[in-house]
Amino acid sequence: MNKTQQLRELPSVDEVLHFDAIQDLALSCPRQSLVGWVRQAIDSQRQLILSEESGTRPSHEAIVEMILAQADLNQRESLQHVINATGIMLHTNLGRAPLAARAIQRVRQASAFSNVELDLDSGKRSKRGFRVTKLLQELTGAEAALVVNNCAAATMLVLQTMASGKEVVISRGQLVEIGGGFRLPNVFSAAGVKLCEIGTTNRTHVHDYEAAIGEETAAIMRVHHSNFAQIGFVTEPTIAELISSKRPESVPVIDDVGSGCVGDLSQYGIEEPDVIASVAAGADVTLFSGDKLFGGPQAGIIVGREHWIRRMSKNPLMRAIRVDKMTLAALEATTEIHLAGNATQELPLMQMLSKPLAEIQSSCQQVVQSLRKTSSATVSVVSSESQVGGGSVPGVGVSSHAIKIQTDHADQLCQFLRSGRPAVQGRITDGAVLLDLRTVADEEINLLTGRINDSLAELESGHAQ
Ligand SMILES: *Cc1c(COP(=O)(O)O)cnc(C)c1O
Repeated sequence: MNKTQQLRELPSVDEVLHFDAIQDLALSCPRQSLVGWVRQAIDSQRQLILSEESGTRPSHEAIVEMILAQADLNQRESLQHVINATGIMLHTNLGRAPLAARAIQRVRQASAFSNVELDLDSGKRSKRGFRVTKLLQELTGAEAALVVNNCAAATMLVLQTMASGKEVVISRGQLVEIGGGFRLPNVFSAAGVKLCEIGTTNRTHVHDYEAAIGEETAAIMRVHHSNFAQIGFVTEPTIAELISSKRPESVPVIDDVGSGCVGDLSQYGIEEPDVIASVAAGADVTLFSGDKLFGGPQAGIIVGREHWIRRMSKNPLMRAIRVDKMTLAALEATTEIHLAGNATQELPLMQMLSKPLAEIQSSCQQVVQSLRKTSSATVSVVSSESQVGGGSVPGVGVSSHAIKIQTDHADQLCQFLRSGRPAVQGRITDGAVLLDLRTVADEEINLLTGRINDSLAELESGHAQ
């Protein structure tokens, strides 16, 4: 067959689009992209024919393969399961807290039509989030609760509702940047609230707050340091001290506790401000994230005095930052778990935190033994330090174990680990790849072993050539 004949045998774009394999793809890929990949694939076969002396026949299989490879690259961008072997339990890049099985089930139930704003008894319209706010009140002991998109949105809503056009007194040591460029002073200005900074970076006293209160003062605010720690010559009042400070009755105390710790985690070396303690101490408004230590979906939770929460719920901003039915469903289930005292059994975050060191070590050994059977790579079990992450408990490590893979091509190995299904995210320390198993669920261990094996094989074949 000569080149002209071969070129004539190439399928048309339309023909390729009708191949079975490509029709399947059409269900998940945008048509425009798909047509583009088909054109590219046909064109590359055309180039091949024109360049080859020997005359290889154009093949439909080669065209399909090229298109599938493109589609696969494209799919990489879509949200998918990632095995978190970083040792960071609340990894913001990996979506912070994984949801409890019960929460996932409830999201599934709510994701079709659901009674998000319907009272099933009366058939009348009901308040969105009615049940979850009731549960949150019960859990925290607060008079009222409100749920918004995240804690940043909660901060915005609280400041704008309680202090717009006026001043809020805050310690210089608490003017934090939370990550992703979220800086507290900018939130104040966006909410139209004047900052009244007091104290110094390292030391602020109750009398600093008392001296700063004046005509313009709308509130006192305490903000948890979140992602940094101060040591040495430092002091700042506790929330209880702030609440008992001398101030007019009209000046409320706002407490941004951030990480949303409910209950005592000191047995894990975690000392974070507690939501329930903040409410009990008498904070007028307490706010925190749903997806940090609370172990639920992304959300900003505001609890406190009924009259403040009511004003917030009527703020027009509320409509822009309200949550959807899936978030409500997940948060309901997560709050129920806390209320039932089942956090350690049911919340993945708590399971990671409480996993015994010996269990992690034996999982590591099991994986390493299995890898040694199939790969010549230098693998071992080393001690490691996990972290809570997600802007909470800075500087506090939790003892763990990791699988260490010694290689001259750590970056490339990590890339192979990320590029398969499920993707695996590890870390590189001193040139070796470390996979910390505290953050890997038991049911993921076999998958992980398979993925490490495949990635090592890929690496070895690449460097054998
Ligand atoms: C994390 C954090 C926030 C921001 O919470 P998001 O839910 O990520 O918006 C605000 N304040 C404090 C103290 C935090 O720790």
